[in-house]
Amino acid sequence: MTKYAPDRETHRAKKELGQNFLVDNTVCPRIAERAKIEGIGVLEVGPGFGALTVELAKRAAKVVAIEIDPDVLPKLRDNLIDYSNTEIILGDAMELDLRTLIRERFGEMPVALVGNLPYYITSPLITKFLLDELPLQSITVMVQKEAGQRLCAKPGTRECGAVSAAVWYYSEPKVLFDVKPGAFRPRPKVMSSVIQLRIRDHAPVDVSSPDALFRVVRAAFGQRRKTAVNAVSSMLDIPKKKVETAIRNAGLPAAVRAEQISLEDFAHLTETLENSQEE
Ligand code: SAM
Repeated sequence: MTKYAPDRETHRAKKELGQNFLVDNTVCPRIAERAKIEGIGVLEVGPGFGALTVELAKRAAKVVAIEIDPDVLPKLRDNLIDYSNTEIILGDAMELDLRTLIRERFGEMPVALVGNLPYYITSPLITKFLLDELPLQSITVMVQKEAGQRLCAKPGTRECGAVSAAVWYYSEPKVLFDVKPGAFRPRPKVMSSVIQLRIRDHAPVDVSSPDALFRVVRAAFGQRRKTAVNAVSSMLDIPKKKVETAIRNAGLPAAVRAEQISLEDFAHLTETLENSQEE
């Protein structure tokens, strides 16, 4: 055991908080290196005992780390004692007002978000970071391999889900590298991947409201076994005929399913539906 993953007598890892601590000491420097954070600010989610925090602090101008578990704080503070450019915030990353926190803690400094995320809330966390349009230049996070594939899958391809549309709308995503279960204590059952989302300056498609786009996307994926027409019609309570017309106007086949629709086509479909609602 390392000082970043104490033995069971000192700290019982909390499964419900996704506590799988990194003990392979080659992984954290790799994440920090690939995050490209030299001289900028880093917001870390879930520092645990600080294995990754230390590597981030060696490279970044400032690291602010949000941790939900008060039990890890004494040891985390101890491990960060030599890094005066770090600050720990006790709190829930899902609940905190991150926009205000970034403004108060980093001012005008460019900021990247980095973390070995708790797997039980990977998608909600990433969706929140994106939809809140936080002023971030990139998000580099460890996630379950399968979740990483889904998050980075291009809309319109087999592995995509509703979350992939938000990821592609706001960022250019890629899978950086895989990490084996043996790199963690306790060992997770599955492989992990480090993914990176580089936040776009401009959206890749034109829509009058991103909220409307994501409502249609969520509806289409909400009932995966149904065609997009049936799913959108029943989830958004729009007459089937109207959705059929919008699908046809967007140039899509009548029986198209959500995972076959590209972001451009979702944008087109949303605009057509919005316009037909106004008629
Ligand atoms: N970064 C450490 C490492 O790599 O060894 C720990 C990573 S562990 C997978 C996830 C960490 O996130 C844990 O320390 C856990 O307590 C913390 N955590 C879980 N839910 C959280 C939340 N909602 N907000 C902030 N931290 C959270």
